Amino acid sequence: MKIALLARNANLYSHKRIVEAAEARGHEIEIINTLRVSINISSGRPMLYHRLQHPLEEFDAVIPRIGASVTAYGLAVLRQFEVMGIYPMNESVAIGRSRDKLRCMQLLARKGIGLPSTAYTNDPKQAEDVIKLVGGPPVVIKLIEGTQGIGVVLGETMQSAKSVIEAFQGAKVNILVQEYVKAGGMDIRALVIGEKVVAAMKRQGPPGEFRSNLHRGGHASAIKITPQERATAVRAAKTLGLNVCGVDMLRSEHGPMVMELNSSPGIEGLENASGKDVASLMIEFLERNAKPNKTRTRGR
Ligand code: ADP
Ligand code: GLU
Repeated sequence: MKIALLARNANLYSHKRIVEAAEARGHEIEIINTLRVSINISSGRPMLYHRLQHPLEEFDAVIPRIGASVTAYGLAVLRQFEVMGIYPMNESVAIGRSRDKLRCMQLLARKGIGLPSTAYTNDPKQAEDVIKLVGGPPVVIKLIEGTQGIGVVLGETMQSAKSVIEAFQGAKVNILVQEYVKAGGMDIRALVIGEKVVAAMKRQGPPGEFRSNLHRGGHASAIKITPQERATAVRAAKTLGLNVCGVDMLRSEHGPMVMELNSSPGIEGLENASGKDVASLMIEFLERNAKPNKTRTRGR
């Protein structure tokens, strides 16, 4: 196969591992910098250009690794691959759903998947009601498009929660207010590939930190997840239409609660914690599925 790795930084561990795994399995793989791609949307002959000189055409599959800061442009580029009939590891539409935490929660809730009680408002006058709606303080307030734990804040009392909400609203950013799930700063990341959990890890935040993100000083280690956690991760991935994703869950008294789905999951922590060759499993998934024109949405 000829595979395109749509990514900005060729030196990231995950990207190096994906290239290594693809080559080891006999494929040709090219890293394409998302922001160096131009799109020609002329009728009848959609094209992609690298630096406007080289038309990009003959790929069988594309692995999108689109950073949160370039979601809109990255998804436009990915849609162009799709309209050209190139198989995406994750479709643009599914990635778009996962990037918006509110949209993601709405879709998961409709399927009855366990979630922390979550509320949303734009109206500063309703801050107190929204806090009460999710069960009262402590609550977690988070940016709808945040990542790496930045913009996730614990409001321990009504007063502090209200001030945080007001501050975010004053800065004109959209937020969610969520029930605080007592999980001791620990969360579970399950990696789903093609309707199966292939690896899992737990992440533990440093003492006194409720966020377990590795970027916030969290520590990853192996974990054996329960059948219920497995099933929840697979259902969540399926609901959003993601073939490959990291599903972040909290282990609560009422079973697993999904916090978010990451459509470009980092694999360093997962490979180290689980001992699994996640990069090769991704490539094997493409080998099974990348038939020309198999994308369901074709960018629509
Ligand atoms: P990000 O996308 O920025 O990583 P998350 O929603 O995943 O944001 O939250 C970051 C971390 O904060 C999670 O990994 C988890 O440890 C903690 N966290 C998030 N929401 C809750 C919650 N409702 N209850 C308890 N802890 C939470
Ligand atoms: N973007 C990273 C990931 O997908 C975030 C990991 C973290 O901070 O825990 O896995």
